[in-house]
Amino acid sequence: MSVLSCAHIHTTYCDGKTAAAEMAKRAWELGFVSLGFSSHAAQTFDPGYCIDPAREKVYQAEIRALQREYAGRMTVRLGVERDLFSCCSAADYEYFIASVHYFLKPDGHHTAIDGEPESLKQYVDAYCGGDGLEMAKRYFTALRDYVIASHAPIIGHYDLLRKNNASLHLYDEESVAYRRIALDALRPLADTGALLEVNTGAMARGYLATPYPAAFLLKAWREWGGEVIINSDCHDVRFLTTGFDEAETLLLSLGYDHAVRLGKDTLWERFALEK
Ligand SMILES: [Zn+2]
Ligand SMILES: [Zn+2]
Repeated sequence: MSVLSCAHIHTTYCDGKTAAAEMAKRAWELGFVSLGFSSHAAQTFDPGYCIDPAREKVYQAEIRALQREYAGRMTVRLGVERDLFSCCSAADYEYFIASVHYFLKPDGHHTAIDGEPESLKQYVDAYCGGDGLEMAKRYFTALRDYVIASHAPIIGHYDLLRKNNASLHLYDEESVAYRRIALDALRPLADTGALLEVNTGAMARGYLATPYPAAFLLKAWREWGGEVIINSDCHDVRFLTTGFDEAETLLLSLGYDHAVRLGKDTLWERFALEK
């Protein structure tokens, strides 16, 4: 494993199980060159899942303190995972991950894309005429527009829909129609300079056998000259590097020879992938 970094880490400040200090200690023990914390940004709904607005300053102060504690040994960065519907200023952070976790319903409420399968199914039936491809199109279009408008440095778990599609079978992931929708939304993002996240979180949690995004998307991304970053979307220190070896092997098989990670001295740096 040559990644030795992760820019997508959740802790007890949001829905993670591990305290920030313990996460940093483990990363250091594993020989990480860098570690980036990315709590779910505050939002006006689903409060148990995101950072408490009253503790946002405390979160920032603790990560800054860890930054000083590990200075010269491991670079610690203050980041945030910013959902399309979150309310947080990107200017307060060194970087952010742009993610879409919800659909906004006409009644003003939200449906979680990676939450309970049944509520996503209800959304598709009520608002997409039961058409899974229509739902996929809405999701990818929303993510594409958000990444472009926010000048996001990282595109979070691009095909997050796969998590619930594994049990709901709302559309055929192998179909030309689905692949066209996912590819068409991804194509303009290659020109933005955003890093496409290879996210192994669903592997650690047992939902999927492969990372987000699917191989056909990663293959196209490389052909378009895009750069990738490998992250575990870690919520539990036991799974800090789960799936990293598989992700590297997958990327090598698709023709990638390097990926990008948080740098030791610069915000981002390239590193060579290894078998
Ligand atoms: Zn996420
Ligand atoms: Zn996350």
